[in-house]
Parts: sequence; structure tokens; C-alpha cells
Amino acid sequence: MVSGLPGHAQLLTLQRGFFESGATRPLAARLAALKRLEESLRHHEEAILEALERDLGKPPSEAYSSEIGVLYLELRYARRRLARWLRPKRASWDLLHFPGRAEVRREPFGVALIIGPWNYPVQLLLAPLIGALAAGNVVVLKPSEISSHSEALVRRIVEHAFAPEWVSVVEGDAATTRALLQQRFDKIFFTGSTRVGRKVMLAAAQHLTPVTLELGGKCPAVVANDANIALAARRIVWGKFLNAGQTCVAPDFVVVPKARQSDMLHALRSEVRRRFGDDPSQSPHYGRLVSRDHGARLVELLQGANIAHGGRFDLDQRYLEPTLLDAPDWDAQVMREEIFGPILPVVPFDDEGELLERLAQRPKPLALYLFTRDRARIERVRTALQVGGMVVNGTLQHIVSPRLPFGGVGESGLGSYRGAASFEAFSRPRSELHLPASWPWSMGDVRQPPPLSWMRRFFG
Ligand code: NAD
Repeated sequence: MVSGLPGHAQLLTLQRGFFESGATRPLAARLAALKRLEESLRHHEEAILEALERDLGKPPSEAYSSEIGVLYLELRYARRRLARWLRPKRASWDLLHFPGRAEVRREPFGVALIIGPWNYPVQLLLAPLIGALAAGNVVVLKPSEISSHSEALVRRIVEHAFAPEWVSVVEGDAATTRALLQQRFDKIFFTGSTRVGRKVMLAAAQHLTPVTLELGGKCPAVVANDANIALAARRIVWGKFLNAGQTCVAPDFVVVPKARQSDMLHALRSEVRRRFGDDPSQSPHYGRLVSRDHGARLVELLQGANIAHGGRFDLDQRYLEPTLLDAPDWDAQVMREEIFGPILPVVPFDDEGELLERLAQRPKPLALYLFTRDRARIERVRTALQVGGMVVNGTLQHIVSPRLPFGGVGESGLGSYRGAASFEAFSRPRSELHLPASWPWSMGDVRQPPPLSWMRRFFG
């Protein structure tokens, strides 16, 4: 284990030396690195399922699809396209470059730091790693200490595939992350809370290190008066209670026209029962909270709330039943902080225009889910609200494919990744202009600047 400041400095020196040797640059080296990562994942599949079961009680098929399968998709996508991504992009002809040839190349940053959260502890650390390796970086990974089984396992996965000068895992708590952040990295990629994201950005500013911040927030599900309520309930329940609600893009709360509030609650209740039965603690499809403390915070949010369904809990078992809240106030605690657990407030509204104004005044969320069949309404909502991503008539599905960039805006994040966007997040465009060595004339060769009248005609 690398710990303490001198250890961190040594690790960075080792990694920087390796990066500067150019070993990570050739296409073949990058493809081989991605292949080794994939092989290590396949080798550790059973261990990953076991660690996720221990950390979060994740059902095996949920764990496989959301933590391992997504990585295979990303790896396949990157390996197939990497040669194309690396090809220099010729700039179109410009008299100002005459007689040269201009192009843009993507350059790796160098030593990248990836800091992960505990809710998808394998996927959210290794998906950015794919982009970092594809772009030709060396990488330090800092898993969350809270999902401790996954933390230890990620180290094994990485050590199986890479020498420490290429990819290393640093284990430890927030103090370790703070110490790491004092080092000069060339790129920092952080996934976690908005609160810690601010601190990461402040630390990065000391070295002017570029950051990507994948943060949280309260993602609304807006059910319009023309929506199919049963379908909305089915898709909201799936997105909300996956991983026991501990998903950054889970619908945090539902808003629904007042006249449809009781239909919505009824439909959500039946959907929860259909999915998890009358006693979800016995369901093989329902996960657990990450810790007792996290559960205690969630139970606190239920104090004084009008519970329309669920509400039973057993903190020793890290269990909280899928819970529906009927019409909490907008200024209740549960409507102010990100819930990040299996509690779903259902809030009625009178007027859609007022609702959009209210939502627009809140911090910009990572995702918005809109249930409607009306194109004009989709356009209205699109214009009224700035959000990281949006799904119409669904939840979560926009983040499963490498074909769509994923990221937040404002308080929900800065930058994006997945697929080509990951490669871009870990590289920068370098412009190059090549002038012929023997050509008799180019812009820089004129002895005197041309007269102002000529300049005006040329540029104006
Ligand atoms: P967190 O911010 O508490 O921790 C994230 C990482 O930061 C951990 O590795 C932790 O060790 C480290 N850390 C904690 N305190 C620190 C400090 N003071 N200084 C430096 N580093 C520190 O987040 P979490 O509780 O692990 O995850 C939950 C949050 O992450 C939620 O807000 C959720 O919405 C968000 N999230 C966002 C995404 C996304 O893709 N946008 C994905 C998952 C989770």
C-alpha cells in the first residue's frame, strides 16, 4: 500500500518517468493495456460479484450488468475505435497557413488521478480508467474506502493487469485523498458528491490541473398530465430502487399534476409490490445500503413525513424498504438534499409553468426524466431547464451506452465521459502546422508588414 506524502511523491515520480519514456503512446501498447484490463476483469468476475454483494448486497445479475457488463461494452467500443481516434485530423485549407499542412492530434495529459465513490465502486473507477488508458496516460486510482471489499478487489484487478508505473491503486480515507491531491497531477477525474467535488477543484487549482467532475444532485421525474401513469411508474420504480436508490442518476423525486397524485401513488405502490413483493427484505432483487450511518441519515429524512408506502427498516441489516412519500413540502429536508437511497417523494403541482420556474431555480441536476407524449411540452421543458442529460418516457437508460456522453452541468458536474467522450476527457487537442522547409514564401517571411489598407481588405 502506498501511503503518506513521501510514498505519493515517489509513486508520481515513478509514473511520470514511465509516461515520459513514451511507452504508453503507441497504439499497440494502448490496445494491449485495454486487453489486459478486460482479461483481468474476466478473471475476477466471481470475486467482483462477491465484493459487491458484501458491500451493497447487490443481486448478481444487477451487479453484473451495472458494474461488469457496462465495462465490457466500454472496452469493446474503445478498442474498436481507438485507431480512428488517434488519427490526426487534417484541418481544412486556409490561406493563412499557406503553404503548410495543419492538423489536430489528441495528446495524453500524463499522470491522471481518478477518484471514485462507493455506490458503483468497480464501474465508476474502471470506466474512466478505460478512457485514460486509451488516451495514453498513466493512472493513479483512488477507490472509496467506504465500499471496502470492492476497494481491496480493485487493487487486485489492477495489479493483475498492470505494473505500478502504468496504473496504481492508492487505498485510504479522505485524509489520503487530501494528501494525494497535494501532488501535481496532469488530470483529475472525480466522481462523488458536490461538496467534495468543490474541494477537489480547489486543490487542483493549486497546480492548474484540469478536472472532470461527475457529481450528484436531485434528479426530478416530471410526469405530465398526458403521461401514461402505469408506464411512468414502472420505469421510475426500476430507476429509483436499483442499487437501493444509491444511484447518482436515480429519480430523486416525482412531480405530478395534483389531479393525478393519487393515481400515481397507487401505480407506484403496485409496481413496488410487483417487483419486490410484500416483504422486499426477502426479495432476491433488492440491494442493501452501504452502511449503518448512511441508513441512519435516510431514516432521519422520514421523520414527520407522510409515508404512503414502505418505511420499514433494519439498520443492523442495512435495510430500508422501498418507501413512497406523499406530498412533502418543497422546503422539507427530504426535498432539499440529495436522497441517495430508497425514498421517493411524490410531489403534486398545480401549474406546469410555475413548476418549471421552481425547478429552474434549483441547482442544475445530473438528469431529468420527463413523461409525456407532447412534443411541444418536451421543447418547453428542454428550453426551461438546464440538466446534465434527459430521458423522455424513461429513466437511467441514457447512461448505459458508450454512444452517449455522460456528465453534469453546474452543481451536478463539469465535463463528460463514456465512449469517445472518455478519450477526449483524458486528452487534449494539439494543433500542429507543418510548413515546407524549402518553399520560398510564407507569412512569416515578409520583411515589412503590408500596408494597413491591405490588411483591412484582407481581414475585414
Ligand atoms: P464522496 O464525495 O463522499 O466521496 C467520493 C470520494 O472522495 C471518495 O473516494 C472519498 O474517499 C473522497 N473524499 C471524501 N471526502 C473527501 C475530502 N474531504 N477530500 C478529498 N476527498 C474526499 O461521495 P460518495 O459518498 O462516495 O458518493 C456519493 C455521491 O457521489 C452522491 O452525491 C452521488 O450523486 C455522487 N455520484 C455521482 C456520480 C456521477 O457519475 N455523476 C456517480 C456516482 C455517485
